[in-house]
Amino acid sequence: ILQVRNLEVSFGPASSPVLHNVSFDLRAGERVAIVGQSGSGKSTTIGAILRLLPGSGRISKGQILLDGDDLAAMSESRMRSIRGRRIGLVPQDPMSNLNPSMKVGAQIADALAANGLRGGADIKRRTVELMSEAGIPDAQRRYGQYPHEFSGGMRQRVLIAIALAGEPELLIADEPTSALDVTVQRQILNHLQTLVDARGTSLLFVTHDLGLAADRTDRIIVMSEGRIVEVGTPAQILLAPQEEYTQRLVAAAP
Ligand code: ATP
Ligand code: MG
Repeated sequence: ILQVRNLEVSFGPASSPVLHNVSFDLRAGERVAIVGQSGSGKSTTIGAILRLLPGSGRISKGQILLDGDDLAAMSESRMRSIRGRRIGLVPQDPMSNLNPSMKVGAQIADALAANGLRGGADIKRRTVELMSEAGIPDAQRRYGQYPHEFSGGMRQRVLIAIALAGEPELLIADEPTSALDVTVQRQILNHLQTLVDARGTSLLFVTHDLGLAADRTDRIIVMSEGRIVEVGTPAQILLAPQEEYTQRLVAAAP
């Protein structure tokens, strides 16, 4: 479904690239994790795929093929129809990605409307359904609550509901904030994986936690300093890492 080819991303005209020659494939229905330390280029890779690079960030080389169409060369208006409908994003920070003064249900309903669902009653019904699917208990009541009335983990689940509103073929999740403890992160990831399995959606999951990356994924991509160091199945990466960098990462994992 997705082929990233020799991707290079630069910030500012004179600065050296922060991503170098990044290439990987994602097959339909596959679950792939990108692991790497802070600053290794994980969010930049995702930002390039969605064409949502911050500041002066731009793709300076390479291709990002979604079923053969190059996202790196696509017009912004076509890109807008791809975000949400074909590629969903569960962003890193729930607080800055939810509107604090808008009811949670209304924010999910907006995402459904933006993705073409019509009819107030249908939208309301589907919103409550999506909230339940995302693992929010008592959705009927919580529909009318504001983000500050939700815990961090529940806010992350609201973002999952929003990302699924467009029934995307590919779901990209940047790691839930470190404010969430690992147990909650693991619960959310497990839930996300159950949802994508049921839908046949491909999942690209970003984390700095190798243990989390190995959980129920098909492949792990190891990144360091803007480059892909190694790619393998969780067993290959954990039990027989080939590169020295990966060996050190595995040795350091709890
Ligand atoms: P983390 O685990 O902390 O989220 P990451 O792997 O997602 O880290 P990125 O955010 O992709 O890392 O950053 C990769 C590199 O790109 C870093 O060296 C960073 O300095 C650079 N970078 C990121 N955003 C910008 C920006 N807006 N302007 C300039 N450089 C940036
Ligand atoms: Mg990041």
